Amino acid sequence: MRAVVLRGPNQFAPEDIPVPEIGNDEILLEMKAAAICGTDMRILTGKKTKGVRYPSVIGHEFCGIIAKVGSDVKGYEVGEKVAVANVIPCHHCSSCLHGRTNACLNRKAIGYEFDGGFEEYIRIPGICIENGNVVKLPDHVSFAAGALIEPLSCCIRGLRNAGTGFNDDVLIVGAGPIGLFHLQLAKIAGARKVIVSEPNEQRRKVAAELGADIVVDPMNENLEEIVKRETNGLGMDVIVMAIGVPPLVNPTLKLCKKGGTVNLFAGFAGTGECKIEVNTIHYNEINVNGSTAYKLEDYLAAAEMIKSGKIDADKIVTHKFKIEDFQKAYDVCVAGTGLKVVIEP
Ligand SMILES: [Zn+2]
Ligand SMILES: [Zn+2]
Repeated sequence: MRAVVLRGPNQFAPEDIPVPEIGNDEILLEMKAAAICGTDMRILTGKKTKGVRYPSVIGHEFCGIIAKVGSDVKGYEVGEKVAVANVIPCHHCSSCLHGRTNACLNRKAIGYEFDGGFEEYIRIPGICIENGNVVKLPDHVSFAAGALIEPLSCCIRGLRNAGTGFNDDVLIVGAGPIGLFHLQLAKIAGARKVIVSEPNEQRRKVAAELGADIVVDPMNENLEEIVKRETNGLGMDVIVMAIGVPPLVNPTLKLCKKGGTVNLFAGFAGTGECKIEVNTIHYNEINVNGSTAYKLEDYLAAAEMIKSGKIDADKIVTHKFKIEDFQKAYDVCVAGTGLKVVIEP
């Protein structure tokens, strides 16, 4: 079969490798769609190495059709359309025992410890199936939308961490795929007003189409003034940083209402270091938090929202490439001209 094999930082190309053998407790999935994530880009370029094996096949946002079922696996059949939650928590570490399975200390994941989505056939390990991570999808959900359940579930976790709720004024910094999911989720959660700040015109246009109340071009408009005007000078209840640019953190903190929350959702570039006027946090009692991965409950919620059409995932997919054209897909991601880029077999 064909697979994009990662042999080291910046060393990846489609190769012929054997179709994985599966054990009695495993499933073989025929990949139909695998989306490229910002994290994948950081892995491909060697900026992220934690948990990454060489050689390996990465890709953690995927969906497909069951091609083979091990003899001990119950409840799944060949031919079923499924999406797979890639994060497998241990359920016995300190994080798991405190309900933070998303931050499991012994976490294993498809796309890291196990080969991931950028290949024709993916082996789904027994511990993943046992954990309930394999989710069946109805015909009307596209394979690409199925692949995007994973990033949507991360956004649901972020939104829960940010505490977004009824009547909140929400600012989303960055309208990439993640920012656009946060926008849709904030509206569903009951936000009064959602402001989206994004320099790219195409992305601003999609944000407006997906229900943003105000879209701001931070290069040519004064975001601070707009926030003041729209919130009677009070600032935002919730701010989600959906872009990891360290110098933006300090000015963004200043847009938060007293007692509000800033969620640092994105992974930040470089060492992530930046200068912060900590008194902004201190005197305004601002809650600053982060968000990592998702719990299974987030993944299942994301799957339901995509199944029911409450979240439009297909609108976020702008490019599709074959495995053979992975380099082209990579180039589109580097250029930042599209939104979500999806690989198909
Ligand atoms: Zn991802
Ligand atoms: Zn654990």
